[in-house]
Amino acid sequence: MKNMLFPLLLLCICFAACKKSADLPAGDPQTEYDNAKKVLAYIHDLGFPSDKIVENANEFIVEEDIIFPKNMQVPDAKVKTEQFYTGSLVSSGNVTNIRLMVDASMTSMLSEINSAIAQWNGVANCSINWTVVTSGTYDVLITNSNLGSGVCGQGTFPSGGRAGNTIRINKAQIAGNSFAQRARTICHEMGHNVSFRHTNWSAIGESSATPVPGVGGTDASSIMNGGQCGSGATVLSTKDKQAASALYP
Ligand SMILES: [Zn+2]
Repeated sequence: MKNMLFPLLLLCICFAACKKSADLPAGDPQTEYDNAKKVLAYIHDLGFPSDKIVENANEFIVEEDIIFPKNMQVPDAKVKTEQFYTGSLVSSGNVTNIRLMVDASMTSMLSEINSAIAQWNGVANCSINWTVVTSGTYDVLITNSNLGSGVCGQGTFPSGGRAGNTIRINKAQIAGNSFAQRARTICHEMGHNVSFRHTNWSAIGESSATPVPGVGGTDASSIMNGGQCGSGATVLSTKDKQAASALYP
């Protein structure tokens, strides 16, 4: 009996440490299926075309770089209809301390990660604040992942008032890029995790996006332009910063 209890306890600790409160608890298959259907409807509501949605076992991948976990909490309120966002924000209590766990597979790019963090944390009049944690509770895990040729990284939109819980970086893909471009990829994905969509959403085939109040239109300098792996803006544009402070004052 004593021997049985110890592994069980370890298992519980692991589950407690790994679970994100924004996710729904693992339920019966029907509940999980129903929630996945809601997530898919949400993706369509956001204006992403069907041919840009790829279904995997536990998530949908949209436009190759945005992750929608099938167990994510879909916002109740209908998304309002440029800098653009999902309509679902990180709560004011959570955005001031977004704890980023750097997986061991990404520690070789810690300098790039810190550079990206400095950009978001440096926006004036904006409450977004990322911190790197190496143990304990975290909000977002950044990890290396083989995403296939041409895909630099993937971010996750916020859910349940929390930052999206996953960032995947295709280290093999970006290794040959400049430091600034490697940091750009990370900075861009972090933007998705706090709700930013692609500023150039219309040009790349999406049907609608929610403009950040007062900050609309296209912006060639936006770090949140999509499809610019290895070639896009390397610093947050003036409008990116305006949008960040408008959403998270
Ligand atoms: Zn993107």
